[in-house]
Amino acid sequence: MQYDIESYRKIAGDEAIAKIYRTARKLYGKYILNINSTYQGGGVAEMLSSLVPLMNRTGIDAEWRILHGNPDFFTVTKKFHNALQGASIHLTDLKKNLYVNTNSNFSIYTHVKHDAVMIHDPQPLPLITFYKKRQPWIWRCHIDLTAPNPEIWDYLKSFILRYDAVIVSMKNYVRKDLPVEQRVIPPAIDPLTPKNMELSEETIQKYLKKFNIPTDKPLITQISRFDPWKDPLGVIEVFKKVKEEKDVRLVLCGSMAADDPEGYKIYSEVVKKEKALIEKGDIILLTTENNILVNVLQRVSSVIIQKSTREGFGLTVTEALWKGTPVVASKVGGITLQIKDGWNGFLLDPKDYDGFAKRIVQILKDKELAETLGKNGKEYVRENFLITRLLLQHLELLREIL
Ligand code: UDP
Repeated sequence: MQYDIESYRKIAGDEAIAKIYRTARKLYGKYILNINSTYQGGGVAEMLSSLVPLMNRTGIDAEWRILHGNPDFFTVTKKFHNALQGASIHLTDLKKNLYVNTNSNFSIYTHVKHDAVMIHDPQPLPLITFYKKRQPWIWRCHIDLTAPNPEIWDYLKSFILRYDAVIVSMKNYVRKDLPVEQRVIPPAIDPLTPKNMELSEETIQKYLKKFNIPTDKPLITQISRFDPWKDPLGVIEVFKKVKEEKDVRLVLCGSMAADDPEGYKIYSEVVKKEKALIEKGDIILLTTENNILVNVLQRVSSVIIQKSTREGFGLTVTEALWKGTPVVASKVGGITLQIKDGWNGFLLDPKDYDGFAKRIVQILKDKELAETLGKNGKEYVRENFLITRLLLQHLELLREIL
């Protein structure tokens, strides 16, 4: 179901809706092309699936295409992704050729006659080199760029320099060594999608039953791809410490993204290492891609954990805050934009397992604290992280650049 912009009036207010329409006026009939590398799994696909239809509601002709690639390509681009977030990489010609050739092949059957192009993340970055450039190209980076591996950064920069603008998620990611106009636009959630909409008690119960999730004990949950940066094994260590004080169950919900080949490997590591707790039902692993399931988990859990060691933004944090559920998360990257420590959640050093456990137990024991954190969290999202703000910022940028 696609909503009209007016459907967001109640949540975002009339002024925000009028401003969107006002800003869109000069963009009527403009063709805008978005390209990323997966239609599902991860925050980029999540945002595009709301943003692109909404852009079309404003009078723009917005399109969304997916870069095609084989498993080797995605293995290489995940290595690039990891290196951009600071991991080491063995950057060979083989990797570079696979990266560039996949983009070259895609360009042969992807015709770009649009008025502007928005490229998301590193996978489709080299595409720009395969067209006669006739319009502005924007690179939208959703990754934490504070400390990239210098070799990969230098290599990717050779493509980025061709772009007319770069969008990053927070101020810290603006690169002084990149002489291209850089804009800060934080991501946002769509409150009307199945992932974030209100749910009836009946639906919640139906999903809990369908996915075999007992609620006899409080649930603590992390919703994240099985990815080294999301630290699922660290979450389990925290869970074990919490369990010493309070009997809880842990849910790790991580669907597999088409452009992330590490998922199955890390999932298998978790299964192997924690076989006993999984068989006992103390740790529940879910890999189904299901938006309502995520919504249900973010509502029924007593605490949502986000124990990332790096995080471009972390949409899952805002998703949980929106549902009034307390969040205990790492003080890294985009999470620090979303949580004010002690006011709408708690922030901790990712290595501080004791600190994580202490805060979780504190929330589990103090209902009033949980309610206050939840109330503040919801308000903070309403003010800062709704899709209507994201839409407006995109329109403003396009107006300036076109
Ligand atoms: N997600 C999901 N199912 C899962 C795990 C994650 O739908 O099993 C969604 C999650 O709700 C969020 C997105 O994937 O909308 C993850 O975005 P985030 O910015 O947190 O992290 P990313 O995966 O982009 O690094």
